[in-house]
Amino acid sequence: MSVPSPKIDRPTVLIVDDEPANVQVLGEALTGQCDVRFTTRADDAVMLAARFNVDLILLDLVMPDRSGFDVLAALKADPACRDTPVIIVTAMSDLLDEEAGLSAGAVDYITKPFNPSIVRARVRTHVELKRQRDQLAALADLDGLTGIANRRRFDQQLDLRWRQAARSQGRLALVIADVDHFKQYNDYFGHGPGDQCLRAVAEALRSAVRRADDLVARYGGEEFALILGTDELERQLSGLLRAVATLALPHPRSTSGDIVSLSLGAIEVAPTSGRGPDHGLSAADALLYAAKNEGRNRGVCRLLDGSEARIVNPGEPNDDHTY
Ligand SMILES: [Mg+2]
Repeated sequence: MSVPSPKIDRPTVLIVDDEPANVQVLGEALTGQCDVRFTTRADDAVMLAARFNVDLILLDLVMPDRSGFDVLAALKADPACRDTPVIIVTAMSDLLDEEAGLSAGAVDYITKPFNPSIVRARVRTHVELKRQRDQLAALADLDGLTGIANRRRFDQQLDLRWRQAARSQGRLALVIADVDHFKQYNDYFGHGPGDQCLRAVAEALRSAVRRADDLVARYGGEEFALILGTDELERQLSGLLRAVATLALPHPRSTSGDIVSLSLGAIEVAPTSGRGPDHGLSAADALLYAAKNEGRNRGVCRLLDGSEARIVNPGEPNDDHTY
């Protein structure tokens, strides 16, 4: 199973401290271990943390334009850096400040004057913990059988992209696809080959999508769900059907062909804030049922203008290499 790998290069650490001398000493302590970014302006901390996708933040508490506690609250409120560990570095040795910092979400606390090797060790520990958390989070988003995104991931992404598209007046395409007569495939070959079939279909669908932010997910059982761009949607859908046909997996119990095939329903949508993603999903689902009723091994797609397109499986790749 492939797991999206977290950054394996050197971690990036952001130092936020109004005193250039402190920035310099901290930066020198981390030289060779981390890529160091810094700012002496507290107001820039959130923007820089998000822009450089930093792995850890060393945050001063006493700064003229904004307190470290304010910066910490702003970091925790921003989805882009909410999970980035923050170590407070400050001259304030008051235990109450330490408690306040930790309860506001800092992972650790270093008091000045600091020992460079302790700074290095603590940074290393928290970067490693962050990477382990990221790895677990990535695993929680994957379907255990096929290694593609799972339903949880799909639902999260759909919600996010639906709202983005509603804001930017963008469009997206939703696809629900079903392996034809999969129960009969399992009954005939057994569950082991049934699992192999689902893995092969998942890989075929994943290889058939073109854009980096296209999403292919296992929605449950033999059902897959996709979020695609809307350009040349019918050709994209043909490509999905063909990708599965190209596997040429024999299916002696299918009444819609002699190999494993797919039925799919697809809808082009221009999300609005008034209607949620469930609306798009149930429309795609209804179109999937139309495709099944019309004989399976095909797709039915509703475009934004309300017109419906029938997509017949183009079969094995031919000479034109369009797909
Ligand atoms: Mg300061």
